[in-house]
Amino acid sequence: MKQQLPIIALVGEPNVGKSTLLNKIAGRQFAITSKVSGTTRDRQYVDAVWNGVDMTLVDTAGLSFSSEQLELELHKQIDIAVAEADMLVLVVDGKLDPGAINRKALLAFRKAKKPIVLAINKVDSPKRTDIVTGEFAKLGIKAMFPVSGLTGKGTGDLLDYIAEFILEHKLNVPLEDVNFGIGVAIVGKPNVGKSSLFNAIIKEERVIVSPIPGTTRAAIDTHIIIDQDDYTFIDTAGLKRKAYRQSQPDVFSGFQTFKSIRRSDVALLVIDATQEITKQDQHLAQEIWTLNKGLIIVANKIDVYEGEEQKLRDYISLHFPFLWMCPMILVSAKNGTGISDLVGAIKPIVTARHKELSDEELQRLLDKTLEHNPPKLMRDQKKPKVIGLKQVDTNPPIFELYVNYPAAISMQYRKFLEKSITRNLGFWGTPIKLRLKGKDKS
Ligand code: GDP
Ligand code: GDP
Repeated sequence: MKQQLPIIALVGEPNVGKSTLLNKIAGRQFAITSKVSGTTRDRQYVDAVWNGVDMTLVDTAGLSFSSEQLELELHKQIDIAVAEADMLVLVVDGKLDPGAINRKALLAFRKAKKPIVLAINKVDSPKRTDIVTGEFAKLGIKAMFPVSGLTGKGTGDLLDYIAEFILEHKLNVPLEDVNFGIGVAIVGKPNVGKSSLFNAIIKEERVIVSPIPGTTRAAIDTHIIIDQDDYTFIDTAGLKRKAYRQSQPDVFSGFQTFKSIRRSDVALLVIDATQEITKQDQHLAQEIWTLNKGLIIVANKIDVYEGEEQKLRDYISLHFPFLWMCPMILVSAKNGTGISDLVGAIKPIVTARHKELSDEELQRLLDKTLEHNPPKLMRDQKKPKVIGLKQVDTNPPIFELYVNYPAAISMQYRKFLEKSITRNLGFWGTPIKLRLKGKDKS
């Protein structure tokens, strides 16, 4: 299974510089492996590695708030922090007097009983470091780091501390799951029928709900067996506890969804066939794709859909053009239509994600493609030349294209080659990645 990385949440009042800090850290010092915008607000997750320690940094920043909204926003952050983060970075504005800090917020973050480190931001000049540290000591947080989101100063020390803490407390040790197998996340807007769908799936004849639950995840996942393969349906407890789910603020359920997707191999994107597709559906699709997960579009409630089936398919395709290689399955969680097809559609995607192509197969495809469609010369660029193509990883499949000058290959051409690999070599239902490598660096 994919390891769940330790989650480090940047919390604090608006305008203290949380997002500036995150961007600085992300842009400068990290090898970023993925960057996803939250579905409902401008929230960011960054997967990163510092001194060899992997982590996910979360920016809980909001927009600007009136004081009432501020209360609400802080509460949401506290909820997330309590439930999700492994560690909090409380960001404060070092240009302000420590006395100006919202005591209630401070207290609440400390009450979260999570490891906490204080980042005193906006300390742009080294001269102020000692003064500020002294002043802020009275907040009573032992680990304190003066930093500057603008210049990046101090961020290295902060990250050293965080990485050290992760190692020391083994926050990065993978969860021990029995036969985790294929991870499946069921995601979609509220009321599209996710819980009903899950219940319909486990009712299927081929599906056996395993009596052996995962050791650590027993409470939240469901382990099932389909045709002798192990599957873990992720966070199904969340699906069952509907009342609880509905009482959660948006930002919180968005975060849950993100976590479920992260742990999955394949996500079932559920939409309601009787409703219009909205931006929220599209954002979710984008989130799954950006996280490089397999995807099945599941149009539920087909029992009450009154139009022609082909019209529905066309309508859905139109709204998810980048998912042209993903299966689309029309189902009814209510009467069971399509559920067996859906269950059967998961494994082939996993197989495709694990497929390894030989250099010869790839070279053949490349030769054929180049013969008919060589890369074009772009204005102000050197003449492009493609040298070779290799697969370097699976689940998700990653390829490297060796060229003379990466800058000479247009984005369109890269997309075109990705499409060609997907279509001709059968990577159905999964994103693939194509990286460009210059011959000097290869
Ligand atoms: P957030 O609401 O906590 O995410 O705060 P932002 O990242 O949006 O930053 C709020 C303001 O503080 C912006 O105008 C930033 O340019 C400014 N800011 C952030 N970090 C620094 C810093 O290290 N030094 C200074 N002087 N300004 C900063
Ligand atoms: P969730 O919020 O996505 O988990 O959605 P639920 O599973 O709770 O379903 C939301 C509503 O849609 C409930 O009233 C269900 O009875 C209804 N529903 C779910 N699946 C179907 C279906 O296939 N057909 C019909 N007609 N209604 C459904």
